[in-house]
Amino acid sequence: MGHEKPVRSPDRADCSELSVRHERGQRQVFCGLAAIVWLHRKIQDAFFLVVGSRTCAHLVQSAAGVMIFAEPRFATAVLGERDLAGLADCNQELDRVVGELLARRPDIGTLFLVGSCPSEVIKLDLEKAAERLALAHQGRVRVRSFSGSGLETTFTQGEDTCLLALVPTLPELPSGQTSLLVVGALADTVEDQLSRLFGELGIGPVHFFPPRRADSLPPVGPGTRLLLAQPFLGETARALIARGATHLPALYPLGIEGTREWLRAAANAWGVSEERFDTVVAAPVARAERGLAHYRERLAGKRITLLPESQLEIPLARFLARECGMQPVEVGVPYLDRQVVGEELSLLPAGIDLAEGQDLESQLDRLRAERPDLTVCGLGLANPLEAEGLLTKWSIELVVTPIQGFDQVGDLAELFARPLIRQSRLVA
Ligand code: SF4
Repeated sequence: MGHEKPVRSPDRADCSELSVRHERGQRQVFCGLAAIVWLHRKIQDAFFLVVGSRTCAHLVQSAAGVMIFAEPRFATAVLGERDLAGLADCNQELDRVVGELLARRPDIGTLFLVGSCPSEVIKLDLEKAAERLALAHQGRVRVRSFSGSGLETTFTQGEDTCLLALVPTLPELPSGQTSLLVVGALADTVEDQLSRLFGELGIGPVHFFPPRRADSLPPVGPGTRLLLAQPFLGETARALIARGATHLPALYPLGIEGTREWLRAAANAWGVSEERFDTVVAAPVARAERGLAHYRERLAGKRITLLPESQLEIPLARFLARECGMQPVEVGVPYLDRQVVGEELSLLPAGIDLAEGQDLESQLDRLRAERPDLTVCGLGLANPLEAEGLLTKWSIELVVTPIQGFDQVGDLAELFARPLIRQSRLVA
């Protein structure tokens, strides 16, 4: 680490006055299995085997074309007595499927058994199954398990449970060494851009988690400085902190301000001077400003509601309000984890209706009363809302599109501007 004068932090508002509406009721959000869609692209030697029903198979297969273990015996086990014989059958069947899979696919380095609602209901112990299979295929493959069940996880939380399962397997960072650990799956192009910026700032070594290959896991220890790239990894962050890592609270790298402050958190930890920081970010910031200008005209003054689904809602609302001039009406999140979004909350504009959890009917009532210009929501709600004349944007698009970093700012704004532009063409 360097010894230059640390970079100044921006002034922060007090967030203690922010009121949060807590809702419990019917929810309409994806389950954590959805995370397989981007995790299987990111970790190239991993295979995700969902142990679930045909519904789970349909959900993941249609979204990502991932192979599913959907043995009808599960349905019988779910509905029947949860007898030991049934469970023994399930385990045998799982062993058989895994054996066939590994024989056919020598490229699999790490196998994830992914739990679902059905496997949870019949109390199939996937952690034990992973241990048993790891032993049976020792030296051939690593086997881990995590839950993507809709009873336990929402949408992006599947990434949190996946990474959490890997934390105990991370190698120890040798004592006396310092490194930056960026946590959260990012598109490879974004990762490369951010790596370059860290390099120019003199910050390093930098490791990314999840890695591109599960056989090159990043080290962790008391010298680790932890920078979250995604706002839905609270459990993983806490497990890394328990292994000695120090969390660097920051905005998320969405928008110009978010990316700059995210980099600044690392720069401060490395003692990078203000002058050097400004010099390194000047050109990418100028590019991002040019990319944003065109869409800002379209977005300024428009009212937007973000329904709870991806956990990206709070940083997105901050970006849309502060950099695009939009007016967030209601911002919902499936759950509010202040440890990971504290910095973001303090920058939300006053007067926003912030909601945690969901009670679908009352949320839709508020939406119909407000009739914002744009609503960010899940796939299931988009069509009915469009039929009521409300413009929508699918939140899953925001998770699977590269939107982090300076060079993606224009693309991020465009995702919100596109439906508005399309509408103005239709009425023109
Ligand atoms: Fe549905 Fe549960 Fe399977 Fe998700 S895990 S697809 S919520 S049954």
